[in-house]
Amino acid sequence: MVSRGLGAAGDSFGGYRARLAETLRVAGIRDLAVLRAVAETPRHLFVPEAVRHRAYEDVALPIGAGQTISRPFTQARYLEALRLTGREKVLEVGTGSGYQTALLAALAGQVFSVERVRALAESAQHALKAAAVPNVSILVGDGTLGWSAYAPYQAIVVAAGGPEVPPPLVEQLAPGGRMLIPLERGGAQTLTLVERTAGELRHTPLGDARFVPLVGEHGFDA
Ligand code: SAH
Repeated sequence: MVSRGLGAAGDSFGGYRARLAETLRVAGIRDLAVLRAVAETPRHLFVPEAVRHRAYEDVALPIGAGQTISRPFTQARYLEALRLTGREKVLEVGTGSGYQTALLAALAGQVFSVERVRALAESAQHALKAAAVPNVSILVGDGTLGWSAYAPYQAIVVAAGGPEVPPPLVEQLAPGGRMLIPLERGGAQTLTLVERTAGELRHTPLGDARFVPLVGEHGFDA
């Protein structure tokens, strides 16, 4: 229920969120479900107090532990490329602040998210609860190993840049599934779409990217 000028999230930031969604639309995001998810997800709950006043600007922000929450435009592009229908089981590697997790939860059926830094996983869990996002489970661990208990996933999102596509993630991707991963070569990152069809994997480069390093068994050394 919406009352007294409060937005869908029940707070007074609805106008800022609507403006952020409009900024993304003007910048080229066309997927209405993605724009709606941005307009309804309280990003201010996912950023540290010190940068909260900038929560609805289209900028990356520090979230602690040397990590950053990506620019909303980048996240929206990412989500658009996944072409979610609302029913998928999604694996996310790199929960970070939990903001993208919340967007995924609005666009898919269920989200399983793995984060290696315990403190980030805990504050993300807290923010997701505050934002009343019900369909998310978080695991503290190395996401390059995936989360086999709930596999296969119709979509996999890797929010950190690695040297290769981790083999366990390929195994856990459902036939017909889509995976997005920034791949690093010679210091430059390319956002890559990996599609699993009958017997093969198709890699499609989607453009330059700049994500924090993917650290783990099938990533970079810590
Ligand atoms: N999309 C996030 C930002 C993610 S930043 C947001 O909306 O806030 C990338 C995250 O990946 C960081 O939190 C980092 O700790 C995490 N990470 C890096 N390597 C990882 C791994 N192997 N497994 C799980 N998480 C990892």
